[in-house]
Amino acid sequence: MQVFTTVNEIQSFLKDQKEKSVGFVATMGALHQAHISLIEISKKENEVTICSIFVNPKQFNKKEDLVKYPRNTDADLVKLEAANCDVVFIPSVEEMYPTEVKKEFNFGILSDVMEAEHRPGHFNGVAIVIERFFVILNPTNAYFGEKDFQQLAVVRALAEQINSSVKVVGCPIFREESGLAMSSRNERLTAEQKVVASQINKALSFVSKHKKTHSIAELKDYFIKEIDKHSLLELEYFEIAKDTTLEPLTDWISTEGQIAFTAINLSGVRLIDNMTIIN
Ligand code: AMP
Repeated sequence: MQVFTTVNEIQSFLKDQKEKSVGFVATMGALHQAHISLIEISKKENEVTICSIFVNPKQFNKKEDLVKYPRNTDADLVKLEAANCDVVFIPSVEEMYPTEVKKEFNFGILSDVMEAEHRPGHFNGVAIVIERFFVILNPTNAYFGEKDFQQLAVVRALAEQINSSVKVVGCPIFREESGLAMSSRNERLTAEQKVVASQINKALSFVSKHKKTHSIAELKDYFIKEIDKHSLLELEYFEIAKDTTLEPLTDWISTEGQIAFTAINLSGVRLIDNMTIIN
């Protein structure tokens, strides 16, 4: 496994790869099995897999969240080596942003709802860093988790807007046995808090299975009440939205898929999750 920290180094490596297909997995480190599942998918579909580790300051709308974000590069490298990842790219902030970037992207509804509404500027920061990675690495395929479904939609929209040739591939949500969606942020939860956090999955599962018997308003009401039962859980939003545009819905539609989305705070740890509604 090769580890690069500068743009020059990784670009000269890539030049030598000639016509090989390159898969790219962008991460912020503190790697867990879900990240590794993306690496595994990339390895199956590409000749060379690159994983980046970069805690992107531009996508944190709260400074304390950036400061508290878990970092453990040594352990990350051990996990990536075990997964047979080919290349790790660990640039510094100066390497990624040698000059100040002041781009303003507009992704329509995606820039307004759910994560965008609750984390102003977040997706602009994501788009800035992903565009930069796409330019530096020019991968064949780039892998993003459906856990961050809105981010995946934003990256697809970005690739289209900048006419990128990179194919954006969505990867399934990886969960703990309890159902809790894996996240680097889970490291900050105690064992008891994780049990409480797994209730989010249970409530989402109920919602996903009851389209036939409940209205959207009834399921929203159900979800809010379930979360309210646990004093540690503080709901930020719950929406059922189209799986294409991510436009939140008030009535069921039969022509398109729908997904339930939520963001919940648990003792200062922000958890997001989503689940496809079964028709
Ligand atoms: P992060 O390090 O949190 O920025 O995540 C890096 C990539 O891993 C993103 O594409 C995430 O969507 C993806 N990812 C993180 N957690 C999960 C999960 N539980 N299931 C699937 N993908 C995930």
